[in-house]
Amino acid sequence: MRIACLGLGRMGWHMAGHVAAADEAHEVVVFDVVEGLGDRWAREHRGAFADTVAAAVDGSAFVVTSLPSDRELAEVSQEALPVLGRGAIWIDHSTTSAAIARELGERTAAQGGHFLDGPVSGGVDGARQGTLSVMVGGDEDAFARAEPLMGTYAGRVRHMGPSGAGQLTKMTNQICVVGLCQALAEGLDFASRAGLDVEKVVEAMLQGSSTSWQMENRADRMLAGEYDFGFSTSLMRKDVGLVLDQASTMGVSLPVTALVGQFLADVDAMGGAAWDWCSLMERQRQFAPRDVPTAPSEHS
Ligand code: NAD
Repeated sequence: MRIACLGLGRMGWHMAGHVAAADEAHEVVVFDVVEGLGDRWAREHRGAFADTVAAAVDGSAFVVTSLPSDRELAEVSQEALPVLGRGAIWIDHSTTSAAIARELGERTAAQGGHFLDGPVSGGVDGARQGTLSVMVGGDEDAFARAEPLMGTYAGRVRHMGPSGAGQLTKMTNQICVVGLCQALAEGLDFASRAGLDVEKVVEAMLQGSSTSWQMENRADRMLAGEYDFGFSTSLMRKDVGLVLDQASTMGVSLPVTALVGQFLADVDAMGGAAWDWCSLMERQRQFAPRDVPTAPSEHS
């Protein structure tokens, strides 16, 4: 079975790798707009690379995309749709608007194919380990056919409803997480300025009510000031923009999400567009006085 994997970035590289490794019957053909990336992937995995989107998609039973945003997805669709075969299933793991997911759902169905919007959560580590959570919108029968393939790189795959429901679920995920990371940055900065042993503080809190995925997986990097990995500030800004646009059409108020969106813009202005977005910590550090007291007094 031929499977086209388009977009070999931080996430897509690993996802395509799992698809290729899972089953010898998977004939994987990859493409990325960055020259040489497909070739590099094919040298490190079992599979081939194509020179164009159309060459990868033509004859494929499944198309798996992991692209930055609506703009690149729309670009890829211009080349992919004319050659997408009848009955073929396009699974898109990019985080995009619900509107483009619905539009591609309709256009794909009109030519006898299927489009599933399947944004993911779990980060680059989740992609590398094959433990992502996938939130899928689209036709239920197509979902049932695609589920085993998604299972090669995901620990949880859920059908959320019709086209767009996957993206709306991912937006909910982002609303729930942005404030958490900012709160963690504030807590770590506070503990450090109070002269506490912050690693010990984190260890204590991991067993308490403030524990989170962010605390478990990001606190050490935030304390070390290491941000050269993961989910970039610019992609998180894109997600916050998608969420706020969607919420405004629904009349929903999201004050914390909007505020953290502004903080992410500050990080961007600090030169952190490509840093993991837990670099909110760096903004927190920069926007407060630097004189940290020593150990807390016994009498205070
Ligand atoms: P990335 O920028 O590392 O990768 C995107 C890839 O798409 C790049 O290699 C780029 O060259 C390629 N691309 C761009 N335009 C293309 C085109 N026209 N044709 C083919 N390839 C093209 O991004 P990423 O971090 O891998 O994220 C991908 C998607 O997954 C985004 O929508 C992001 O919001 C979402 N996501 C990322 C993470 C994460 O931790 N990185 C977590 C969850 C969701």
